[in-house]
Amino acid sequence: MARRAIVAANWKMNGDLALVDAMTAGLKTVALQDNVNVVICPSAPYLSSLVTQANVQSLNSAIAVGAQNVSEHESGAYTGEVSTQMLNELSVKFVIIGHSERRSYYKETSTQVAHKVNAALSAGLTPILCIGESEEERATEQTETVLASQLQPVIDEVGIEKFIDVVIAYEPVWAIGTGKTASSEMAQETHQFIRQFLAQANESVAAKVPLLYGGSVNASNCEELFAQADIDGGLIGGASLHVEQFKTICSAAKGK
Ligand code: PEP
Repeated sequence: MARRAIVAANWKMNGDLALVDAMTAGLKTVALQDNVNVVICPSAPYLSSLVTQANVQSLNSAIAVGAQNVSEHESGAYTGEVSTQMLNELSVKFVIIGHSERRSYYKETSTQVAHKVNAALSAGLTPILCIGESEEERATEQTETVLASQLQPVIDEVGIEKFIDVVIAYEPVWAIGTGKTASSEMAQETHQFIRQFLAQANESVAAKVPLLYGGSVNASNCEELFAQADIDGGLIGGASLHVEQFKTICSAAKGK
């Protein structure tokens, strides 16, 4: 069974046109292993430039552009929001949904996240669905309950069969931007739980869903993390703002 690996860059509210140019120029020479996709997710104002520059540089077709968020609504009076149709028009292929910063600062609920995943899938975009527990939830052994409560509303809304087109990023909230990475054993154990949870609904779909690890991944720890049986790449924040570091991380990923 071939399961693709994905390395996705989440620039968050960082970066500028100079980084768009530097990253696309840098990725021209990135060495990717078999069955690997790279996705760059800048802030919305840079999506168009990134798509254009990727074309100008004739980047490998395994390299795509993603958004960091999308509205669950089709169109209308939703000031500040971006629709799936707008992303499609710009040739954006992926969208991060339910990042912990959106869940905590913008109060996105798992129900709203499920609506967004549904909207993305209906528009032919690949959602990168983020889930993860807080430090306190991990300390009080609620990790599995929390992850199940974040996944189940999405399964209920879109149906498990559609997960064949979903990418899941497991990001322990306490490891995001803190420099504290989950150990590779801890990350693997949690990824295995996620895969088994999906398998209860559909084993063959579960075996194919790429599960990414996110949380202070860098050029030094990526290889060990990506070598784990159920870790199929990463969602990279801070380190994705540095072209050479990001290229090293991309080169470490391998389809399984
Ligand atoms: C993220 O924002 O999704 C993330 C994983 O950030 P960092 O790599 O900086 O921890």
